[in-house]
Amino acid sequence: MTSPSPVVVWFRNDLRLGDNPALRAAIDAGAPIICLYILDDATPGDWRLGGAARWWLGRSLTALAGALEKKGASLILRRGRADAELTKLVEETGAGAVYWNRRYGGAERALDTDIKQALQARSLGAHSFNGSLLYEPWEITTNSGGPYRVFTPFWKALKRADGPAAPLPTPKRIDGFSGALASDALSDWDLSPTAPNWASGFEDVWTPGEAGALARLDAFLDDGAATYTDDRNRPDLDRTSRLSPHFRFGEVSPRTVWARASAALASGAFADSGAGAGAEDHIDTFLSEVAWREFSYSLLYFNAHLPERALQEKFTRFPWRDDAGRLEAWTAGRTGYPIVDAGMRQLWATGWMHNRVRMIVGSFLVKHLLLPWQEGEAWFWDTLVDADLASNSAGWQWIAGCGADAAPYFRIFNPMTQGAKFDPDGDYVRRWVPELAQLPAKHIHAPWEAPAGVLASADVRLGESYPEPIVDHAAARQAALDAYEKVKNAA
Ligand code: FAD
Repeated sequence: MTSPSPVVVWFRNDLRLGDNPALRAAIDAGAPIICLYILDDATPGDWRLGGAARWWLGRSLTALAGALEKKGASLILRRGRADAELTKLVEETGAGAVYWNRRYGGAERALDTDIKQALQARSLGAHSFNGSLLYEPWEITTNSGGPYRVFTPFWKALKRADGPAAPLPTPKRIDGFSGALASDALSDWDLSPTAPNWASGFEDVWTPGEAGALARLDAFLDDGAATYTDDRNRPDLDRTSRLSPHFRFGEVSPRTVWARASAALASGAFADSGAGAGAEDHIDTFLSEVAWREFSYSLLYFNAHLPERALQEKFTRFPWRDDAGRLEAWTAGRTGYPIVDAGMRQLWATGWMHNRVRMIVGSFLVKHLLLPWQEGEAWFWDTLVDADLASNSAGWQWIAGCGADAAPYFRIFNPMTQGAKFDPDGDYVRRWVPELAQLPAKHIHAPWEAPAGVLASADVRLGESYPEPIVDHAAARQAALDAYEKVKNAA
């Protein structure tokens, strides 16, 4: 009897074994499985993986390869144009079908469609699944069948739906393809920086891979979730899940997160915080944040130009500045505004920044410095371990006031009051801007207003040990409003 042709499982943004519908379907097909990852730096496009995401990818692939080995399969690594590499592998092995989980960016969809058609034209199977979202973008639509442009009705519609499918179990065994296959060595891909190794701090913070993702989810449900509604805006308290890079690489599925969070709530596993919201509110708020991710994917799916072009047309004519000095001060965390600088330094040191602070630094770039939101988006893309085409571009369009359901442009965050409200004791600033560590909380968010004696005893020399504010808040605010006036009434 001849053995059946193998099938390929093409891993992309789904670097896990649990709740992986493409892997499950391939196993159910009963043929030997070739597990493949392609590093595609060759297909033309603007959104190649950034530096921090590459660091994550290397570790996540190591974890995936180890998990596959334990189940009986190897991970084959290839580098090049995805379509060419896939074709080559199919020809080498005589594979009869390819399985993958879907992606939603414009260029990604175009590529996947071409690949699917090419496989089908050769009478080969091409099977795609939803492995990344609770619901696919076309499943949550308005009554008229169009996309939502406002989050709250989107969230309500998502909750009214039948409930996300239950997560699929982790396979017990995988019948790996036994033929000899060439695979790149991960170390040859140079995914980690060396000279200098700017990611050295990442190791202390993150455990990439499915096991790390599930451990983080469980730790969050055991602890952080109990005060989520009250504390999620406090960068000093570190009470959010930090699941975002794990989501980004698909090391955990949103269906698993939804199911485990719902189960934790049903079991009464975490106690109410006492004051404030109850357990149900905390879980509901947490799941609504997960739904912001879904909303971002819906925006991207229905607006393929979301990463590049303002959804509100008038913003394409906004009089942005071209000012390399301002951009450099922002990226380096040397604007003279402590909460902004703390965020930018947290990003550089750990590859992640708290959501509240992402909003503050984003608003500052676009409104105080009048630099285009695309500059901030590009910097985040390169430096975030969770850099995600949908969430990053939707986040930037939201904060710039040019997206769907965006914060209105004229609502300009005041970095001092934001700092005082969300980092009331100044601990977040102290941690990331050590040169201000001795300042009392009263002055830490506006050191330029502190009396000379206070600055001296805290060893702060403005303009030397810590920068003077790069712009004056009131003047910058007015300049932003004036610039907005110029496009406000345009279509
Ligand atoms: P939690 O509070 O624990 O939330 C749970 C999960 O919900 C997150 O892991 C994330 O997947 C999702 N989520 C939460 N808030 C949002 C949101 N506003 N939009 C979309 N999804 C959300 N998130 C990314 O994953 N990748 C990005 O590239 C990204 N860029 C952003 C850029 C800007 C300018 C802004 C304002 C936000 C951006 N976000 C991005 C959203 C958000 O800041 C992060 O998802 C969040 O800080 C991750 O931390 P957490 O996992 O502890 O979140």
